[in-house]
Amino acid sequence: MAGLEESLRTTLGGKAAAKLDTAFGLTTTGDLLRHYPRRYARRGELTDLAALRDGDQVTVFAQVEKVRTRPMRARRGQLLEVTVTDGRARLALTFFNKVQYWERQLTPGRHAMFAGRVSTFKGKRQLAHPEFKLLGADDAAKAAEYAAELIPVYPATKDVSTWDIEKCVQIVLDTLGELDDPLPPPLREQYGLAGLAEALHGIHRPADDAQARSATVRLKWDEALVLQAVLAQRRRAAAALPATARPASAGGLADAFDARLPFSLTAGQREVGADISAELARDHPMHRLLQGEVGSGKTVIAVRAMLQVIDAGGQAALLAPTEVLAQQHYRSVSDLLGPLGQAGRLGGAEVATRVALLTGSQPAAARREALLDAASGAAGIVIGTHALLAERVQFADLGLVVVDEQHRFGVEQRDALRGKAQGARPHVLVMTATPIPRTVAMTVYGDLDVSTLAELPGGRSPIATHVVPAAEKPRFLDRAWERVREEAEKGRQAYVVCPRIGGDEGASSSMPADPADSEALIGPDDDEEEARPPLAVLDVAPALEQGPLAGLRLRVMHGRLPTDDKDSAMRAFADGSADVLVSTTVVEVGVDVPNATVMVIMDADRFGVSQLHQLRGRVGRGTEPGLCLLVTEAPEGSKARQRLADVAATLDGFRLAEIDLEQRREGDVLGATQAGRKKSLKLLSVLHDRDLIVAARTEATGLVDADPELSGYPALAAEMSALLDEEQAGFLEKT
Ligand code: ADP
Ligand code: MG
Repeated sequence: MAGLEESLRTTLGGKAAAKLDTAFGLTTTGDLLRHYPRRYARRGELTDLAALRDGDQVTVFAQVEKVRTRPMRARRGQLLEVTVTDGRARLALTFFNKVQYWERQLTPGRHAMFAGRVSTFKGKRQLAHPEFKLLGADDAAKAAEYAAELIPVYPATKDVSTWDIEKCVQIVLDTLGELDDPLPPPLREQYGLAGLAEALHGIHRPADDAQARSATVRLKWDEALVLQAVLAQRRRAAAALPATARPASAGGLADAFDARLPFSLTAGQREVGADISAELARDHPMHRLLQGEVGSGKTVIAVRAMLQVIDAGGQAALLAPTEVLAQQHYRSVSDLLGPLGQAGRLGGAEVATRVALLTGSQPAAARREALLDAASGAAGIVIGTHALLAERVQFADLGLVVVDEQHRFGVEQRDALRGKAQGARPHVLVMTATPIPRTVAMTVYGDLDVSTLAELPGGRSPIATHVVPAAEKPRFLDRAWERVREEAEKGRQAYVVCPRIGGDEGASSSMPADPADSEALIGPDDDEEEARPPLAVLDVAPALEQGPLAGLRLRVMHGRLPTDDKDSAMRAFADGSADVLVSTTVVEVGVDVPNATVMVIMDADRFGVSQLHQLRGRVGRGTEPGLCLLVTEAPEGSKARQRLADVAATLDGFRLAEIDLEQRREGDVLGATQAGRKKSLKLLSVLHDRDLIVAARTEATGLVDADPELSGYPALAAEMSALLDEEQAGFLEKT
């Protein structure tokens, strides 16, 4: 009797084991039993052949309709052409060798599974020389084999078909002995979950739908509990680390800053601020995620936290995803601080600190000064891009790391910066403007505590959003440019956003210099032909300048511009000496020009829902209402148009984030840095298994609190170390 650790060589023999290893990396019995069916085919049910797509590797259930042999044209010999049907559509199968042999088996009326790659020949979809397996065969043994109502269909490859896998799984299931169950019996009882062996049998050989379902739920629990137990341990370990307490003190920079603020904080800002202030005062590191829409006032909260740390003798680092944003933060933090940030300079306040900017491309002298200020402690606040992670950057006493726009960073980068503080760990505050649904936060950021700023500061103007169908109604596009001119005449400004930079860049081959420009662009809908490459800044800007926006002052902005040019373009737009900024998504986050009232987004269907929402947050930041125009050539009724209509219909960022996530594949939701996690969550869906994840988190936290090393739960602990090994491997692969 075999356990889950048994090598497949032992149970299946070297040849089959080697095939499974090559095709899927499966090496143990446990690996194979966790290669779950993708779906189940109902006996007698045929595959919708009309839905097959060219190039796909498919497994289809169909009935043989007619069989024809003819001599081949180019070569000697016979060709067998078999037409199969699902009752409506047809698919051609062609066989070249051993024609009589195939012909004897594939007689009209027979049902079979066929596997192969779909191609098109003379306008007809076909499978050339498919593998196949007859169903409902006449001998008794075969009939019994297919008596089951549900036939599992496994993820398969060209070399390993679903029935090959099924056969291996049957062998392994038949030799399966007693299994150590990672789910503790009381938990199984409480949630009515099957035992592990029973569930593995149930998912691979279900007698009916109900059995398949309950097996799936049980196996999802394994995935959820193991992950949540890892995260619970991680939270526990992090909470036990030493950190320097940075308690608030009266009469320092933080108080002076509050007194200087030209507005009063919202209730949400006060509440989150109090939480952060209390956590900074503890001698264990804070690990907090602060989420809130663009403009919800996160930066103000971060600055107050940084000042509390400086008052307590420490320094703070603020990490931005791009140079443009680092510069923007530098300017806005300096503005917010005013004389409080001018220590040792003319006009500096008596109690004051200094703000240093460190980026990859700044002039050597400026860089040297910033490095010195960071190392000596003269700069209380050091702002930069990931260049801050470079080893040469030293801090006198780093007490707080603020990471802006988390969705562009990996966990490992955060860890690198944390490591900059000698001995004690710095406190960490991660800010994100992308609303993250609760279960995603629990899965991806499960080792962080989460605060949310739900309300926008008062006085913010509403943003109206409209879809401009440029192909059907060119007149609407003309009207969009007229609107831009009208705003400019009133002394206001506009953004024009394009999906691509253009110029000598290959449409997609060259790496953009700025990570902000490589944000996930969505391709055209799968079922549509790509007509042309997405519009580019370097093409659109001159076309507007010589056409509908002639006479207005245009500037361009994108990640490939030299730093000086970026800076000067941003400055020109910020001080109003440019009317229109034509740019890529580098303006997506953090850029703040209250006088900008219109945003025209070209090829808007190329952007994700959340990204469009982020982009439009750039307008309507002043007293005038904002207008966002989503220009698209996507036809009415297409998925892309629906996405844009969703964005136009609501300003609720959480709702849009959910729509966005629903349209992505699960692995993409978890992100590239979650390689191990992606692999280990085979059944669990962070979008659809909300209740299960919440319950698993509670249970896991309880188990870890009662037994931190989980020594009383060896099977669970073993699964956890397997998960950690996978994450580690994923991390190594990336570096
Ligand atoms: P976020 O970082 O969340 O995008 P910011 O902190 O940059 O938001 O705030 C956006 C704008 O709103 C800034 O100009 C800021 O000064 C202003 N602001 C922040 N908090 C308030 C408030 N309580 N009342 C009025 N304006 C505020
Ligand atoms: Mg911001």
